[in-house]
Amino acid sequence: QFVRRPLIAGNWKMSMDHMQAIALVQKLAWTLDDAGHDYERVQVSVFPPFTDLRGVQTLVAGDKLAVEYGAQDLSDQDSGAFTGDISGQFLDKLGCSQVLIGHSERREIHGETDATVNSKIRAALRHGLAPVLCVGEGLDVRTAGEHVAHTLAQVDGALEGLSAEELGELVVAYEPVWAIGTGEVAGPEDAQEMAEAIRKHLAATYSAEFADGVRLLYGGSVKSKNVASILAGADVDGALVGGASLDAEEFAKIATFE
Ligand code: PEP
Repeated sequence: QFVRRPLIAGNWKMSMDHMQAIALVQKLAWTLDDAGHDYERVQVSVFPPFTDLRGVQTLVAGDKLAVEYGAQDLSDQDSGAFTGDISGQFLDKLGCSQVLIGHSERREIHGETDATVNSKIRAALRHGLAPVLCVGEGLDVRTAGEHVAHTLAQVDGALEGLSAEELGELVVAYEPVWAIGTGEVAGPEDAQEMAEAIRKHLAATYSAEFADGVRLLYGGSVKSKNVASILAGADVDGALVGGASLDAEEFAKIATFE
């Protein structure tokens, strides 16, 4: 009943060392296989820490797993004197298909601005990585009733100067900051309200055709018990899952909307 192929994405944040990462992906793949998961129908991606990516690649390639993976961040530069940074070309060579950009923890803890996010999206696109752009308001903005305007401004800042052709496989994840890791989940109507507003905005900025193809995720305390109601929104095409993605069985249930 989905117009677009749903995406269930797991953001591991700074959890799981390289051994734990392999075990988690393996268990996830087995659990999904046991459940007869159809990856063509619902895409499943995990976003491990950088240091886990090589191990995940080896497992996924060796066992021909259909689980996809990406990084939680990337540098806006391609190479050079940028100590501690990781380039999009490294991620591409490690088989990443997507990359999270502008997660609220990057914005808050590392001071990433919309301009930073914009240059990181450009870097991802240069290396064939689909950007999963994260946007969303804090509690103060929500309380003031300005969440839609705030979030659409983040989308504009992130995409400034980029054409629909360049943006290709763009995914946008709406993650209200007050719902991340708090157990506080936005209602299905909140998720749909924002997804609809983002899609209409993309249609006005680019074209209806482009907007209709962009997948819009909701993120913030998604669990197996609430995923089905959130995905019932006509414009909600999947979920970005933090805490619950660290448990293979729970994440597999989310991916099958059980
Ligand atoms: C996230 O960090 O992207 C997230 C949605 O976290 P959680 O599911 O734990 O709220």
